[in-house]
Amino acid sequence: MRVRYYTHLSQLAGLSERDRRRLEPVSERYAFRSNSYYLGLIDWDDPGDPLRRLVVPDPDELRPWGELDPSGEAHYTPVRGCQHKYRDTALLLANEVCGGNCRYCFRKRLFMSDNDDAALDTRAGVAYIAEHPEITNVLITGGDPLMLSTRRLAAVVTAVASIPHVRIVRIGSKMAAFNPFRIIEDLELLALPGEVRERGAQLYLMNHFDHPRELTPAAVEALRLLKAAGTEMVNQCPIVRGINDDPQTLAVLLRELSFVGCPQYYVFQGRPTAGNEPFEVSLVAGFHIFADATRGLSGLAKRARFAMSHRTGKIEVTAIDERFIYMKYHRAHRTKDTGRAIIARRDDAACWLDELEVVAGPPAALGSARRRAPWPDWRPFPAWERLAPSDPACP
Ligand code: SF4
Repeated sequence: MRVRYYTHLSQLAGLSERDRRRLEPVSERYAFRSNSYYLGLIDWDDPGDPLRRLVVPDPDELRPWGELDPSGEAHYTPVRGCQHKYRDTALLLANEVCGGNCRYCFRKRLFMSDNDDAALDTRAGVAYIAEHPEITNVLITGGDPLMLSTRRLAAVVTAVASIPHVRIVRIGSKMAAFNPFRIIEDLELLALPGEVRERGAQLYLMNHFDHPRELTPAAVEALRLLKAAGTEMVNQCPIVRGINDDPQTLAVLLRELSFVGCPQYYVFQGRPTAGNEPFEVSLVAGFHIFADATRGLSGLAKRARFAMSHRTGKIEVTAIDERFIYMKYHRAHRTKDTGRAIIARRDDAACWLDELEVVAGPPAALGSARRRAPWPDWRPFPAWERLAPSDPACP
């Protein structure tokens, strides 16, 4: 199937002239991008269609809100295009283009012309990983790595998989949702899992389906082919207002993903990213949507955790009562914080840890409480290198 990519609102036949004029200033600030396959899934008679909301700009994106790098990724970037936040995991930002631009993207800064966070030449990042034997798994992301030619993608993937201490290679991609034909029609791509296995590692595809309607027969076929070739499949997505912020929709998504062998891994709280105010759901609302959605699901369909990808670590929200929000570090930059509890006063309007009043927790969480508070125990990258080998925090 020939899929054409569009970067101008004037190319959208379903958009009225009035809407186009209204939305153009938004796309000048935050770039629009989609393709003929995905646009064909939209019900253009419904202005609130969730897939339309996912790719078509919203005027409220221009409201001043959030930051361009809400998780402080720049802070964890030792060489261009390579992030190292958790001891055993590194990220390579190998591309700055996606099959479509999700309006709520937390890395929308990559699509801006003055940004150089990604590195199309990944050699410095690969060399960094090779020099760090503690890194056992690498996420190749961007942008969407599947927008690279298969030859270039294979070069990056096999270079990473050839590093003896790397045992897991992940590709972060929304391509099965945005353009499954990129996968279905590429037999060379299906050789990749075997090439990774030959080098002693396992390939994972970290998919990104936000709504059950993205799981079309073509998308499911793309997953099936890659799975049959030996790729492990998981899905992760944020809760996004107007797209999947009701328990029924989220439950269907999680259940269907489990049926096609692509179980949910994380459900994320939306990051406070610039332009994302119209897509944000409060932390309390997000927790209840997740809890209600997973209540009736099988164990396989509800293995996911509801988490904030905070600059200090991945913080799982575990419970909420009338007075408090209970959280814990599922992953922490400071390894010794992993598993430690955080308790904050309940605030039904808050969307992020930084807006909460934390009453108990490790210094990194206390330091992040209330926006713009100082970080008393914040240590710059990489904190674990200062841990003595006998420190119980060293894995
Ligand atoms: S696929 Fe991921 S990186 Fe690309 S626009 Fe969507 S959220 Fe951002």
